Amino acid sequence: MHSSPVALVTGSSRGIGRAIALELAQVGHAVVVNYVASGDAAEQVVEQIHGSGGDAVAIQANVGSTEDRVRLLAECESHFGRLDLLVNNAGITSPGRLDLLETTEENWEKVFATNLKGPFFLAQQAARSMIESIHAGQISRGTIVNISSISAIAASTNRADYCLTKAATEMMTWLLADRLAEEKITVFEICPGIIASDMTAPVREKYDRLIAEGIQPQKRWGHPEDVARAVAALAGGAFPFCTGQRIFIDGGYHIRRL
Ligand code: NAP
Repeated sequence: MHSSPVALVTGSSRGIGRAIALELAQVGHAVVVNYVASGDAAEQVVEQIHGSGGDAVAIQANVGSTEDRVRLLAECESHFGRLDLLVNNAGITSPGRLDLLETTEENWEKVFATNLKGPFFLAQQAARSMIESIHAGQISRGTIVNISSISAIAASTNRADYCLTKAATEMMTWLLADRLAEEKITVFEICPGIIASDMTAPVREKYDRLIAEGIQPQKRWGHPEDVARAVAALAGGAFPFCTGQRIFIDGGYHIRRL
């Protein structure tokens, strides 16, 4: 069994997940760098972690696939022998960003499988593994962090499926937090705002304009590292009497203003 706490960060080959993996390694976690297609990018994250004296492994798995999720947890277990932290970060935006009058069931199913079904059943599997390790006295507590979005509270009619999955992540977080409190597992939701990544690259100019016009009090893009620092604080146990909490990392976007 690994001597350091072990974190599984889904979708950590790029963007926000990558920053989370690097930050967690920095604060002493061994990290499973999960990806679906970008093997080279994932290996680069692993190399970077090894280069700064940390431990990491890249594991390919589609979080929307039942078989892949089972294999992901099994490989994580066989490589590190424990799991202390699951970060459900992998996510996709709505393919084609179609207006809700045009969007398709096919898109809906893809977005829901990746953003909601996958994270829920991964949390279920991870919690079972954590509970076993806690009962065996191998770890003292577990943590699950769900990366949601300000799209949980902001309607984008060209991304209905995406908004719906993110809104449901709040209830998923509450359900898991309620059930798992007695098991010494805390569960949190982080809602990033407008963050510079491949996901937002196609709409960069629109967001540049909205930020300049003051759509949020802090007039800048968020960086993946802004989200990563919040995850590291939660993983470090900074909030022991707290679970089910939603944290906005959004420059104040969520504040209603008049
Ligand atoms: P991104 O740059 O597009 O990166 C997505 C990551 O998820 C990649 O590592 C990708 O792996 C992985 N991924 C996608 N589908 C997957 C699947 N089925 N199974 C496993 N991994 C998968 O996205 P991001 O901006 O970093 O977003 C990360 C999370 O933050 C998402 O949940 C997103 O909804 C949320 N978020 C983002 C923003 C934003 O402004 N960027 C705002 C709010 C919330 P590959 O590299 O292998 O493709």
